[in-house]
Amino acid sequence: MNAHTVLANLGARNYSAPRVIEMGAKDRWTPTLWASKKPFGIGEQRPNNYLEIGRALWENRGRLPYAWRILSKGVCDGCALGTSGLRDWTIDGTHLCNIRLRLLRLNTMPALEPSQLANVEALSQRSGAELRRLGRLPFPMIRRTGEPGFRRITWDEALDTIADQIRATQPTRTAYYLTSRGICNEGYYAAQKAVRAMGTNSIDNAARVCHSPSTVALKSALGVAATTCSYSDWMHADLIVFIGSNVANNQPVAMKYLYYAKKAGTRIAVVNPYREPGMERYWVPSNVESALFGTRIADRFFLVKIGSDIGFLNGVLKHLVERDQVDRDFIERHTTGYDEVTAELRTQTWDDLEEVSGCARDEMDALSKMIAESRKAIFVWSMGITQHDCGEDNVRAIVNLALTQGFVGREGCGLMPIRGHSGVQGGAEMGAYSTAFPGGLPINAQNARQLSQLWGFEVPATRGLTGPEMVDAAHAGKLDALFSVGGNFLDVLPEPEHVREALSRVPLRVHLDIVLSSQMLVDPKEAVLLLPAATRYETEGGVTETSTERRVIFSPEIPGPRIAEARPEWQVFTELAKRVRPELAKELELDGTAAIRAEIARAIPYYEGIQRLEKAGDQFQYGGPHLCSGWKFPTEDGKAHFSAVRLPRRHIPNHSFVMTTRRGKQFNSMVQEETDALTGASREAIFISASDAERLGIRAGQPVLVRNSRGQMRGRAFICEIKPGNLEAHWPESAALLDRGRRSPTAGIPDYNAVVQLEKVEDSH
Ligand code: SF4
Repeated sequence: MNAHTVLANLGARNYSAPRVIEMGAKDRWTPTLWASKKPFGIGEQRPNNYLEIGRALWENRGRLPYAWRILSKGVCDGCALGTSGLRDWTIDGTHLCNIRLRLLRLNTMPALEPSQLANVEALSQRSGAELRRLGRLPFPMIRRTGEPGFRRITWDEALDTIADQIRATQPTRTAYYLTSRGICNEGYYAAQKAVRAMGTNSIDNAARVCHSPSTVALKSALGVAATTCSYSDWMHADLIVFIGSNVANNQPVAMKYLYYAKKAGTRIAVVNPYREPGMERYWVPSNVESALFGTRIADRFFLVKIGSDIGFLNGVLKHLVERDQVDRDFIERHTTGYDEVTAELRTQTWDDLEEVSGCARDEMDALSKMIAESRKAIFVWSMGITQHDCGEDNVRAIVNLALTQGFVGREGCGLMPIRGHSGVQGGAEMGAYSTAFPGGLPINAQNARQLSQLWGFEVPATRGLTGPEMVDAAHAGKLDALFSVGGNFLDVLPEPEHVREALSRVPLRVHLDIVLSSQMLVDPKEAVLLLPAATRYETEGGVTETSTERRVIFSPEIPGPRIAEARPEWQVFTELAKRVRPELAKELELDGTAAIRAEIARAIPYYEGIQRLEKAGDQFQYGGPHLCSGWKFPTEDGKAHFSAVRLPRRHIPNHSFVMTTRRGKQFNSMVQEETDALTGASREAIFISASDAERLGIRAGQPVLVRNSRGQMRGRAFICEIKPGNLEAHWPESAALLDRGRRSPTAGIPDYNAVVQLEKVEDSH
């Protein structure tokens, strides 16, 4: 189909009219967008990014040249926005944020003093940040049951110990979990190949607990399982809708993109239970105008009840349908399931929708009008949408809205499940996933056969354990070996005490990481091994990561100091598999990261081109700027699929609240600061509305107790603009209130929300 045919097929709307962006408007100051007339937002609650630079300089003062080389040549190991050095492919100018600066020290710090691990009891009182600050893991260490701490062993001893245990048990009694802490595509690929050679598909990664529902819902609706557009589309959209997503906190440079989008005339709507201050206004430090006067970001906030997004989104859809403000031509030519959706919507009364969402139909109408007035729009969502027991349906409700207007497959339009970890997009696509093979292929006999032919050994054809299921199996005594790379189940999953018990029941636990974490200190049932990992910047031959916008980016090896015995993940897994299956030594041989990239290109056709990435700056965007371009959907029938989405029903007993978990100043579960400069809230803050606080006689800062049948959390009331009847608390501190049994039906993501009671506690001071 050529461009003319595509345009001819676009139907009644004039989609081909280009967005008029006045020349020079990008650089001209726009006082109407300023957040404050006070220079540098003096007196406003906001991060001081210049202080962050000073802090990074101080922390890395012993290794500044190396730190600079990492920043200027490496690909950021923070979120999944993606960089090459200090540049990106969306805007000119410097790309740097405080997340990256805070992570820098993990890459430059020297090794810890091993004698500090000789007594675990003394370490167990320390916080995660204190454990990380001890330094890099220097060499393999072991702690056997009854021993007070860890002692040094050789790599040979470590790998033989692990291989002996794996050989002595059934593959189904082993599990492997890789988080995305800086892990590269090559590491994920080699690990999953090795694990499958060892006879199991029980390998999972952090993509499970972030966007697995997005993958499921997008794949069935559009035939693709990734963001359909590029960040640069933000500057071409008439409207961007953020749903359960706080990019100000999690992808800070995205705020610079939004600054330029606002200058170009893009409107921004935010659907969230809390009026996130960072999404309301932001000071972009690297832009003079925004650094001085800030930028108003959101044009409109829609405060919804926690877990009620479907009620709100279906209400918006119902308005569009009832007014017939949908693109009928696109729907008829390129989609299926619209009639089922409208039939389902007819069964959902306005009273139902208002009750479920907590929003008046007028508010739903306001967003429906913003959508109807837009020729191009992008929907961006994060964990506020996915981490629910209805996560897949939440995503389907978003996709439905986009499909009513053909907001996919063309410039300025798209569906973007934005990622918060530099490795999650690639981790799942490389096949480090218990429910999919490399390339996202379903685990079945036919796909297993094809992989067996490629790799030269038999690949198991049944799905493995997801991350949360690994903990279930460990608790039930069904695991003999658990191998974790990075991450910390204790911090990440619901009910930490249950997780602790589960870990203590596994005879052999292995932790391959760069620094110490609390899960390593859980007493061994038989043995716990620590293995020192190399960072992406230390990996010979360089590595790649895949960003949210599907850009595969090469990060070169950065010359500098090394931790003598640290090894890259790919080497460790390959070597282990060879010891477990010596007869497969030839099939498992991987001669460096370039060879792995060549094999990835053979195993995953859409990664064609990765084998040619070899120096800083090399990259490509698989699928091009827009997936489903020309409205060609890679589904079986070639069409996009609407889904009838029912309203979720959750009984909230009287005098109870719905609580969700949130991030503060942290990178995933790594807490970096006691107070979040974006909100002003401390780690113990319980976000509560003014009306609820007044009703309960609670003052700002007053101690409160939040509890339910699972656990409790002591905190302090933080009165803010949150939907009444709802609370927010920082994660992982609030993880004890979550119910480990609540997971989404297909993806198995845990529900990071809970029904709780709140009571005030008298201040003892
Ligand atoms: S926004 Fe994300 S990719 Fe960019 S510098 Fe910050 S952490 Fe790194």
